Amino acid sequence: RGNWKRVARVLKEVEEGCETSVGRLRQVVDAMAVEMHAGLASEGGSKLKMLLTYVHNLPNGTEKGTYYALDLGGTNFRVLRVHLHGQQSSVLEHEVERQPIPQNLMTSTSEDLFDFIASSLKEFIEKEGDGSELSPDRRRELGFTFSFPVKQMSVSSGILLKWTKGFSIVDLVGIDVPACLQEALTRKGLDVRVAALVNDTVGTLALGHYHDSDTVASVIIGTGTNACYLERVDAIIKCQGLPTTSGYMVVNMEWGNFWSSHLPRTSYDIDLDSESPNPNDQGFEKMISGMYLGDIVRRVILRMSLESDMLGPISSKLSMPFMLRTPMMAAMHEDDSPDLREVARILKGILEIPDVPLKLRKVVVKVCDVVTRRAARLAAAGIVGILKKIGRDGSGGIAGGRRSDMKMKRTVVAIEGGLYSSYTLFRDYLHEALNDILGEDIARHVILKVTEDGSGVGAALLAASHSSYD
Ligand code: ADP
Repeated sequence: RGNWKRVARVLKEVEEGCETSVGRLRQVVDAMAVEMHAGLASEGGSKLKMLLTYVHNLPNGTEKGTYYALDLGGTNFRVLRVHLHGQQSSVLEHEVERQPIPQNLMTSTSEDLFDFIASSLKEFIEKEGDGSELSPDRRRELGFTFSFPVKQMSVSSGILLKWTKGFSIVDLVGIDVPACLQEALTRKGLDVRVAALVNDTVGTLALGHYHDSDTVASVIIGTGTNACYLERVDAIIKCQGLPTTSGYMVVNMEWGNFWSSHLPRTSYDIDLDSESPNPNDQGFEKMISGMYLGDIVRRVILRMSLESDMLGPISSKLSMPFMLRTPMMAAMHEDDSPDLREVARILKGILEIPDVPLKLRKVVVKVCDVVTRRAARLAAAGIVGILKKIGRDGSGGIAGGRRSDMKMKRTVVAIEGGLYSSYTLFRDYLHEALNDILGEDIARHVILKVTEDGSGVGAALLAASHSSYD
């Protein structure tokens, strides 16, 4: 039937549009490394902001004491306490309290927001009782994870550049964020010092490094996506003469905003972008992260439904942006029942498309596969881009070193986020692409390690390594 041909044509076009051959991925790798250079060379030199963090030393396991962290970055707000015993990983204990951020605070004033945060910390500390391991003459110290783009002036100061993820507290833009928090803590009578301001990727890197000192970068692939890595200070051209003893600094790439003409872009991506609240922004993120993958798939199914009556009359749910969330998309993708029962259930239950024939259910699974595979492979190319920038992609480039003489160093990338940790096929595709791009001999030395609660625990670790008591 002509109808079927149309569905098949839409599918074929999506497959071609999402093509990620190894050759193309290598172009993305190169573009990532080039943009990293450009973003380090000058302010505004690239869509990659390459933000300085002033973190020169990462936790190594010798940290000792009790430290706190506040984690503000998305839908939940968390307070943590971390106990460090001075001997690496085995004895890292922490307690967490999560609570949703009241919707009205996301668009109120900075005073309201920080008073809420300070009150939560106060309650948390008051519940401690006398069992606290803190010596009474010592001020409490905390790391503040604030996962929005910040221009830092030091490890414990920085001004907010812009809000993302639905937050909009106008009076905080351009203001020193930790100073605001510090004032709120003082207003509540809390004697706590804000020792470090931390992006969530930097927290993840800190925790990864605490457990394994070969960790040189971290990647988050959840609702959004971002990465940071350890860079040589003399490669940070835009900021000459940074005083440092280690010679290194962690750079927050804000890689969600990466763009290159080599990225395989379809009409669905273009529509998603132009209908978003931030068009032309976060282009890499919109092809990769959990916030968007389900919606790309929904757009393809909608196109099929418009082209053919095999999916029945056009469902209004199918026309609704973000109706198909990524975990539901993943559930269809991972449906291994012979008659694709789960696919049928979700198409009917969520998108209100009943009685989809098996042949079409298979097409839907294929669409999920194409979109997820592209996302995972692009994320892998981004990771290899970082490795290339720091000379860990096995391609050599060190003066005087013959390739055959060079030993590839063990290289660990800390990784976090629901898309990577909960979506098996995404993870498998990402690993496969690393092998494809690097070759197995090199890829063997690159280890992706999942961390947990890194954004919070890592901030407490950084508070410890930036404590004023050492
Ligand atoms: P966040 O990034 O919001 O801090 P997470 O790292 O937990 O939180 O990531 C949550 C995101 O991960 C969700 O928005 C969703 O897109 C994705 N996700 C969670 N579970 C799954 C799953 N089982 N399959 C696919 N995607 C998932």
